[in-house]
Amino acid sequence: MKDNLLKRLTILIVEDDEQIGLALQEFLQKKCTYVYLARDGQEGYEAFGTKAIDVIITDITMPRLNGLEMAKLIRASNGDIPIIISTAYVHEHFMLEAIELNITHYHRKPLNMKLLLSQLATIAKNLYYKQLLDEKNRLVQHVIDFQSNMIAVFKNQKIRFCNKSFLEFFNIDSVEMLQDCHELLFGAEIVTHEKTNMQTLMRRSKYNNLNEKVQIHDLQGKARTFQMYSTYLPLEDEIILSLSDISQLEERHRLMEEMATVDFLTQVNNRMKFLTLLEVVYESAKRYHHPLSIAMFDIDFFKRVNDGYGHNVGDKVLQEFAQEILHNIRKSDQFARWGGEEFILFLSHTDKHKALLSVEKLRKAIEEKCFSYNLKITCSVGISYLKEEDNSYEQIINRADEALYQAKASGRNCIMAV
Ligand code: GH3
Ligand code: MG
Ligand code: MG
Repeated sequence: MKDNLLKRLTILIVEDDEQIGLALQEFLQKKCTYVYLARDGQEGYEAFGTKAIDVIITDITMPRLNGLEMAKLIRASNGDIPIIISTAYVHEHFMLEAIELNITHYHRKPLNMKLLLSQLATIAKNLYYKQLLDEKNRLVQHVIDFQSNMIAVFKNQKIRFCNKSFLEFFNIDSVEMLQDCHELLFGAEIVTHEKTNMQTLMRRSKYNNLNEKVQIHDLQGKARTFQMYSTYLPLEDEIILSLSDISQLEERHRLMEEMATVDFLTQVNNRMKFLTLLEVVYESAKRYHHPLSIAMFDIDFFKRVNDGYGHNVGDKVLQEFAQEILHNIRKSDQFARWGGEEFILFLSHTDKHKALLSVEKLRKAIEEKCFSYNLKITCSVGISYLKEEDNSYEQIINRADEALYQAKASGRNCIMAV
């Protein structure tokens, strides 16, 4: 194992004494595959720049550039590479400078080969483990970069590590430049809990793994929605955060919900949404003995609009009719398209007397409104009320329908209540 590892080392000897240099090279070549020899600091520095050197063994006193000067130049770009000094002199100022330059070992000539070999073996072993670790880290980075989720590791509310998606979202080149995105991320709006913020959530994540919906503005200022998960690593005191972009899913969900609840033509509630809302109000009215009224509207002679002006104008009138009613009712009342040119309204907490007054105002507003193409229309309305003996809201709707039929029968443009 020891010899195998030594074989992997690429060594650079920097020595101006040719005899010593060649002897050392010859000796080390028996153990290591690549051993280069440079004749002074300048040549050594150039070799370091062009070859993948693992360890440097250098003399100090040399022409052009001495060993310590060369080490200083190398250290400017590489703080880690092991540098072993082999010198005939042990001056205190050399030693001090060597310590300053983080020199790995300091030998006095003649070299103790056994000691040198054992030091090289340790260096080879460390290098091997570092390479293993680097490989593992690279693999981990590949795996997390492969994820489309944004992943980041936090410690003390600072980002230590993140993946490509995370960098790309904030348009940042490296984790070192992340300072700016702290504000962006900590400024995230928490959709699931209105009264909290990211910093509080991150603190809480030490005790509970997070699973929250958050909104983050991208660099274009567009709000995107993410499902945010976290897990806490107690030994490292680190938090892993994963943000999965669900903006498209949310938008599709919203559209589906809209399609399922809003009437496409008039943009008011559809029948299904109306019934869902009515059910809640009906149950509460029954339990607490609150009044509840329902009004069913039908446009009079609507067929004539279609026949006289065309279907498109008919559509426009339906839209205007719906919006006119919608703008004249209370927030607590709900209005919907029941189908065709029929519409329905419930008035919560409203008894017969008040319902008649309110609906009469609506009937009048329609009668007086000037629709597109100067069209004038009227509507008939049937009103019904929640009764003590009712055991479903359908019964109230059916009675409103009967009342509407009566309104039509009594000449239209009027209200009938049952
Ligand atoms: P009444 O006073 O008895 O209610 O007469 P009416 O003509 O309004 O009643 P009828 O039920 O005979 O006709 C309703 C018309 O509404 C027929 C249908 O084509 C039209 N209609 C239903 N839905 C739409 C729609 O979405 N757009 C348009 N333009 N017309 C529609
Ligand atoms: Mg009709
Ligand atoms: Mg009609």
